[in-house]
Amino acid sequence: MNLSAHFTFDELTRTSQTALQAKNREEAQAFIPSLTELAELLEVVRAHFGKPLKINSGFRGAAVNAGTPGSSKTSQHMKGEAADIAMPGVDDAELHRWIVKDSGLKYGQCILERPPGRSWVHVSICGTRDPKSCQQALTFDGTSYKPYRG
Ligand SMILES: [Zn+2]
Repeated sequence: MNLSAHFTFDELTRTSQTALQAKNREEAQAFIPSLTELAELLEVVRAHFGKPLKINSGFRGAAVNAGTPGSSKTSQHMKGEAADIAMPGVDDAELHRWIVKDSGLKYGQCILERPPGRSWVHVSICGTRDPKSCQQALTFDGTSYKPYRG
């Protein structure tokens, strides 16, 4: 099932915890409107760079989220509102910078996540966040979150 022109329900609900895959997709059914809004945001990013995005993690139901180190119990991933993305051929710092500074997107949170030896961009829709806490740009070094000033 397609959520948008280039993003499918399957890729936004995939988990590396294979024993939980079927359950994760079952739980995700309740969040299709949010996942669709998220997919539409990702379309804008894809269109700008003209390259496919890699979804490392999208929807995470309770069980998958509990098995994800460092993930919060109130994570927007649990509501189908967030994705961890990377774009082969584009530096994560540039991907993050563009979303925050140039895209004009109404995102919820955009975080350049760089724990030692790893890197990705967490991006969410405003969704169920307090509107005042949307357009929040941060960096994460594996220990602490810092405001991103660009
Ligand atoms: Zn994330």
